[in-house]
Amino acid sequence: MIKKIASVFLGLLILSFPASAGAEISVFVSVPPQKYFTEQVGGERVRVSVLVEKGQDPHTFEPLPAQMAALSRAELYLSIGLPFERSLLPRLRKINPGLRVFPADRGVEKIMGKDEEHHGHTDEHGHDHDHGGSDPHVWNGVREAGIIAENILAALTDLDPAGAEHYVRNYRNFKARLDKLDSELRELFRGKEGTAFLVFHPAWGYLAREYGLDEVAIESEGKEPKASDLAALISSAKERGIKSILISPQFSRRTAEIIAGNIGANVETVNPLAEEWEENIRAAAHTIATAAK
Ligand SMILES: [Zn+2]
Repeated sequence: MIKKIASVFLGLLILSFPASAGAEISVFVSVPPQKYFTEQVGGERVRVSVLVEKGQDPHTFEPLPAQMAALSRAELYLSIGLPFERSLLPRLRKINPGLRVFPADRGVEKIMGKDEEHHGHTDEHGHDHDHGGSDPHVWNGVREAGIIAENILAALTDLDPAGAEHYVRNYRNFKARLDKLDSELRELFRGKEGTAFLVFHPAWGYLAREYGLDEVAIESEGKEPKASDLAALISSAKERGIKSILISPQFSRRTAEIIAGNIGANVETVNPLAEEWEENIRAAAHTIATAAK
């Protein structure tokens, strides 16, 4: 009897998996939030790998040999506009000529002129990055996430037309959630426009732009600020009544704590690269809004 139930159950299990299991599209992305977006649209038809994993710095990233081997078998690379991609993608085309590369940041209206503030540190690692001059942290904007998802929809549909209906349905569901999140954040920041917040590494520019906030970076040219810059930062933060300092787990707390001690602000850790994107954006927004008067 038990045997029979077990075999029926096994049969159901096998039936409930699509016949194409194991034939998912192998997609590579640069950073964890892109994995989230790709899975929202691709569902069970994709298998997503992230290049820059937890604790690594996307600005100085260099793939491991094992990652290059996996990339040589990938079907799709969704780039996001990070400097390391510019040297990586030509190498990928050589080892994997069939790889499709789709810029997931296509159509995003980039924040310009912030590059020197935070991506100069690549030089000290001997990398030759040309500075595009735009803020690469596009995944931390809600509107931008919608554009990225639309690009992912286009890339997946192109590669796998049989899944088109599935992708469109998933995209619509995700877009509806993004619209809800957007109205929620709009409500959260209502009357708080102009609120400034300090952040060690300026990864929240797109969120700030959307809701009328002012992101002020502590680091300068990707490094700890000089003593004179720090003094200027502290006095301007006092003047503006800044009560919230965000730091990323990837960077040191030390400078942030010195400033916090001087201006009476709280230091909060928020990860700008979390894979649990939606939850994380909400948490970051609430941290900023709570500190605003
Ligand atoms: Zn960054």
